Parts: sequence; C-alpha cells; structure tokens
Amino acid sequence: MTSPRIEVLPTAAAERIAAGEVVERPASVVKELIENSLDAGTRRITIEIDGAGSRLIRVSDDGAGIPAEQLAVAFERFATSKIRSADDLRHVNTYGFRGEALPSIAAVARVTIVTRPAGANSAAAVTVTGGERGAPAVAGAADGTMVTVENLFYNTPARQRFLKSPARETAVIVETVQALALAAPSVAFHLVDGEREILWMPPESFENRARRVLGAALRDRTLTIDTRGLTGLTGVLGTPETAQARRSHQWFLVNGRPVRSPMLARALDQAYHTLIPEGRVPAAVLHVRVPQDALDVNIHPRKAEVRFADERVVFSDVVREVRRVLHGAALVHTAPGAVRWPGATAAPGTPDTAVGGDALPAGAHDVAESATSYGAAAGPDAVRPSLWPPPPLTAPWPSIRVLGQLALTYIVGETGGDLVLIDQHAAHERVLYERLLARRRAGTAHAQGLVTPAVVELSPAEAAVVSEVERPLAALGFEVEAFGRATIRLRAVPAIAADRDAITLFRACLADLGSGRDEHAGRDLEERLAIATACHTAVRAGDRLDQTKMAALLEELARTEDPYSCFHGRPTMVRLRGRDLERWFYRRL
Ligand code: ADP
Ligand code: MG
Repeated sequence: MTSPRIEVLPTAAAERIAAGEVVERPASVVKELIENSLDAGTRRITIEIDGAGSRLIRVSDDGAGIPAEQLAVAFERFATSKIRSADDLRHVNTYGFRGEALPSIAAVARVTIVTRPAGANSAAAVTVTGGERGAPAVAGAADGTMVTVENLFYNTPARQRFLKSPARETAVIVETVQALALAAPSVAFHLVDGEREILWMPPESFENRARRVLGAALRDRTLTIDTRGLTGLTGVLGTPETAQARRSHQWFLVNGRPVRSPMLARALDQAYHTLIPEGRVPAAVLHVRVPQDALDVNIHPRKAEVRFADERVVFSDVVREVRRVLHGAALVHTAPGAVRWPGATAAPGTPDTAVGGDALPAGAHDVAESATSYGAAAGPDAVRPSLWPPPPLTAPWPSIRVLGQLALTYIVGETGGDLVLIDQHAAHERVLYERLLARRRAGTAHAQGLVTPAVVELSPAEAAVVSEVERPLAALGFEVEAFGRATIRLRAVPAIAADRDAITLFRACLADLGSGRDEHAGRDLEERLAIATACHTAVRAGDRLDQTKMAALLEELARTEDPYSCFHGRPTMVRLRGRDLERWFYRRL
C-alpha cells in the first residue's frame, strides 16, 4: 500500500477543523496513535504502556509506514495525507483527517517515530521533544511504524494535575483500545501494561469481537441485531437480565467510528423500557451505519462525537429495531439454547448456574420444571420444552389503580405517580393464553359443554385443518365429533371461551391455523391453537369495560408469567413516568 503524500492543509480547510484540545489524557494519545495505525492499513497493533501511559505509550503497527523524506512534515500542524481540502471534510473515510495528532502530542511529550515503508532499504527515525525536532536518523526496523511517547505532560504540570488516579487512567486506555478494536475486528490488538498482558484479540468477526469486548459474563447472554434499512444496525444486545448499573457496557460505533452518543444511549433505554428495572441500563455493542452525507464527523476535537443530519430518524429506527429483536427473542420458541433467559435451561433438567443476578424478580418461576411436566403430559410432539411457555422477562408487574378506559381500547391507570396505558386486548390475550397453558400443563383441558351441540359444515380447507389438529383441539377443550362428510358436531369449547359464539370462534381458529401466519410458524400446533383461541376470545378494542372488569383484568395480568407483552410481541403496557410529566409542565427541568 502506497500512501498519498503528507501535505499541510490550506488555511481554508484548517480553519474548518473542529478546534479544541486533542491530547487531554494518556488515552487520547493511545486513540490517535491507534487511529493512525488503522489508517495505515495495519493488520496487527501492539500497544505498550507504563505508568498509566504517563511514562510510556508505544504503538507499533505493520502498516504502510512513512517515507523518510516525509517524516519531518508529519509533525507540522494540519499536515495530513488523508484529505486535501475543506471539501474533503464532507466524505472522510479515514479515522484521522486533521493533521493535528502528531504535533499536539509532540508538544507535550517526547515522541520518537521509527518507520519503514514496505520495500524501503532502511527505516527512518526522528525524535521530537516539546515540539523541538531532532536530527533524522537511519535505523533498522521491520516494515511498519512504531511511535513511542514518553513523559507525557512533562512540560505542562497543570494538565498533569488534572489526571485521575493511575488505575483510572489505565482503565480509560483499556476502554479506548477496546472501542477501536470494535471498529476494526479484522485487526489483531495486543495491549501490554509493563509486564502484564491486558488484552489480546485475534482477527475475528465483528460479532465475535463485540462479544469478547462485552466479556465472559455477558457473552452468552446476548442477542444479535442485524438490519439493513436506511439506518443499518449491527451488533449484539444484552438480554434484559444482563442490564447493568452503569453505562460501561455500552459501546456505540457510527460508520466505523467509536463514538459517545447520549442520543443512542437514550434510544437503547427506550427500547428496553419496561424490560429492565428502573435505574439499570442495557449492555450492548451497536454499530450504526447511515449514508455518509447524513453524518458530520468534524464536530469534536477528539472525534469522540458525531452529528447526524436527522437525529430523530436514527433515534426512532434504533428504538424500533432493537425492540423488534427483544420482542422477537422472547417469542422465538423454536431454537432452544440460542437465547438464554433467566430460569431457562439449555436442556430440560440442567440447572442454570449463569442466571443473572438481581434483575430477576424474586421467585421467578422455574420454567424447566413446568416444561418437563408439560412434556410428559403432551407426549413426544412436545419437543421444545425449555422455551415454552415463554419464561418471565424481568421486573415484577406493578400494582395499578384503574382510572378509566380510553377510546374503548386502553385501560388508563396509575402506579407510583406514573401514568400507565394498558392495551385491553393484548392484556386479555396474555391472560387467556396462560390460562389455557396452565390447564394443559395440568393435563386437564377445561372444557365447557354446549347446551346444544353446534353442527358445523366445513369447507375443504377447514376440513383439512381439522384432521390435522384433532389432538390439539381435544387438548385445549374443543370437543369435536365427526358428523357426516365434511360436517362436524362441536360439543364443547375451552371454558375460557364459554361466552363466545362457539361456531364463530371455532371457524376463526381454523382460519388462523390454516393461514399459517408466519409470525407463529415453527410453533407447535397446540400452541398456535392456544394463541388463536386466546386471540379470538379476548376482549377487543371497542368493547366497553367497567371499572370492576378492568381491575380484575389487571389483577389477572399481574399473575401471568410474562405480563409485559402479548404473544404477538406487542407490549401490553406503556408507561409515562411521573418525572417526565413534571418536565412537560415545567415543574422540573
Ligand atoms: P492525521 O491522522 O489527521 O492525518 P496525524 O498528525 O495523526 O494526522 O498524522 C500525520 C500524518 O502522518 C498522517 O496523515 C499519515 O500520513 C502519517 N502517519 C502518522 N502515523 C502513521 C502510521 N502509524 N503509519 C503510517 N503513516 C502515519
Ligand atoms: Mg491521526
């Protein structure tokens, strides 16, 4: 790889560079040097530090190197090989672009560069101390570049005093390396502190790198996100029970750059809202990709932040897509072991030792146990025991005081000063569904006999479905009897549906099963029938509910295993925080 020449930017471009301190702390030096190595196309970066980076920072790469005759100019302000004009700032695709790092570092430390472009006869070396450049020298070295920074801030005691403890500065360095390692997963990273190896990361896929950075405790409890909309999102999301007290397990990248982003952090909070307890934040590695012209990377002196042309679009895309993954995961019942929820086991009967801490509601029920008994009751067809029924998500359901009904669709309630809206249909679906399951687990379908059995003439399609679901029908409480060709007699329906019109319900269920709506494909027939039955029995939007009915519904919902979502993946409840209400009325800023 041959690089373009290093040249000093014209004033017009230099003036448009976001101004500010480039070197704030040792980690800033680490960041700038690694970025230079990545821009030079390296496959392998070694970072050595000593004295929390104050005594020594050394970054070695096997990248393109700097030709000997350009070594001097590299230390000039605004000298860069990466852009040529102010125009280029609009489509920067390198980490560096402002030509400020080397001069800024050399102004406050002693910097030595030894570099050798591939094919050069020898390596060139130069040392700059406090901005004073020494004589260039010829050296022996392998291809690539090694930059050594010693005695950082030796001539700026005020800045030295602003540093945190060595342990803290080292921690920030480690985070910095991890963040860049996420940006360049195909590059090997090695971080050594004195004699101690802190990080070693081989070239790997982004997903594996992301899981490595999240660490062993979280690695196996993550979901993959991968969407290719206008806002592309890739990464891994911690399952709700892995939520953390601090944001140190959140990593954001935007178009390949590690960034800080309060906006993305808020989007995650919103996506996990109600799934994790108050005061906790989700763990995640999220790489956001937007069209280059929808992004300004030149707004922060250390390039730690970026600006989206339209923040709101990115925000809502992230919330929606992350939610989709979370809800999907709670509902995917076909891949045991792929997703590990609290209390769920990879195989029935294996105790789960990795259950996640205090985010779990006390007394979360043991799915393995109920699953096993269900398996025994339902016979060999029931091969997905550990994930059916869906295990509890997290956080206990709050006790809610009913205020009224809104638009004949939502129950409006109050809990601890928060306003809540509950979708009456979704809530009732959840309740009925779990009641059906409980019955089935107990092995006794709870059927309600019809006073006069209903005779139903089946269409050929309906007849086909009936023949396929005979057993599930019986298991859930539909008593069906053949009665001539393509006609059946319906003698009983599940007790939960006693007050519905039997024939309409039966037909609606057959239609759902027959249409094989993909959202439930892969679930077993009994489960799909349970879903259909609950769906067609539940109160609908438009049904008027009185206070007593609403209170009773919420009480029943509270006792379900997963009160927060219906099985279509829609939430049952939306919560408006009291403190947000206060903000709306400017009672609190
Ligand atoms: P910028 O990265 O913004 O261009 P820097 O001050 O960081 O500015 O570096 C100046 C120039 O020195 C770069 O444009 C690049 O050409 C060269 N350079 C710095 N570090 C390396 C390296 N590790 N390998 C190859 N070239 C480098
Ligand atoms: Mg740079």
